[in-house]
Amino acid sequence: MATRAEPHVVALDLGGSKLAAGRVDAGGRILERRDHETETSSEDALVAQLDAAIAELADEATRALGVGIPSLIDQRTGVPGASVNVPLAGLPLRSRLEERFGLPVALENDANGAAVAEHRLGAGRGTEHMILLTIGTGIGGGLILNGRLYRGAIGAAAELGHVTVALDGPACQGTCPGIGHLEALASGTAAERLAAEVAAGRPESALAREPELDGRALVRLAEAGDADARGVIDTIGRRLGAGVAGYVNVFNPEVVVIGGGFGAAGDFLLDPVREVVAEQALPTARDEVRIVPAELGPDAGLVGAGLVAFDLLAG
Ligand SMILES: [Zn+2]
Repeated sequence: MATRAEPHVVALDLGGSKLAAGRVDAGGRILERRDHETETSSEDALVAQLDAAIAELADEATRALGVGIPSLIDQRTGVPGASVNVPLAGLPLRSRLEERFGLPVALENDANGAAVAEHRLGAGRGTEHMILLTIGTGIGGGLILNGRLYRGAIGAAAELGHVTVALDGPACQGTCPGIGHLEALASGTAAERLAAEVAAGRPESALAREPELDGRALVRLAEAGDADARGVIDTIGRRLGAGVAGYVNVFNPEVVVIGGGFGAAGDFLLDPVREVVAEQALPTARDEVRIVPAELGPDAGLVGAGLVAFDLLAG
């Protein structure tokens, strides 16, 4: 039984709608967890919520803080840049938390944290070269190369949703200036948009009768055998496969791990990804790569934030 005196870090996993907070031990176990609705009304309100969530869990055995946020982060300064769903852009968040709590603070992009967690404890265990994609409102990415998280020059690497897969495609989401990016074509949001188009063209279909045609409804209908829902997920999977084929050519990963809310579509989504990779990626890398579902589910972000905080302590 874990006690409060056990050495731990306090980890936060901040999303656009939910904030998970927990005490995490060096093995990535969540010792205690609290969930909150994210306060997005203003920067001040959100920062006050982060402070309160940490204060509630921190004690004399807290060694560091690990904070995962859905933002690009300049690791030289610890300042979030573009943030689609949370009002943190431009705030010196890392130094602010260091001063407030007097502890070392690891500030990390949420998908990078999830990649660390899946690599150490989940679907990427035992590999040296792993790619993580989280398919939800957008597409998050994380790269484990040579056994380590790859952050790029300033910490902004692995934005794997923001690569062009269609030169004449739609504008990307949020603040991204890109055109025809994978995120605009193969995210959960894109799946919902495609499902709405199919429903509009086929008013007698189960899709058209669905009161809230979101990713969850699509997965449920696909599991129940609905051909339209399966068709939509298949199309999204083939688009995703085009992106993954490119990553296989560039990075030669051992495993590509696919998670996020829409990752719940499982093999309905992964099988077309595997097919396109087998058809279009270069031999021999394509023959060796495994494309698998994430294993840690919604805990990956919190566990990952905790692990990167322990990494900071280890230097
Ligand atoms: Zn983009």
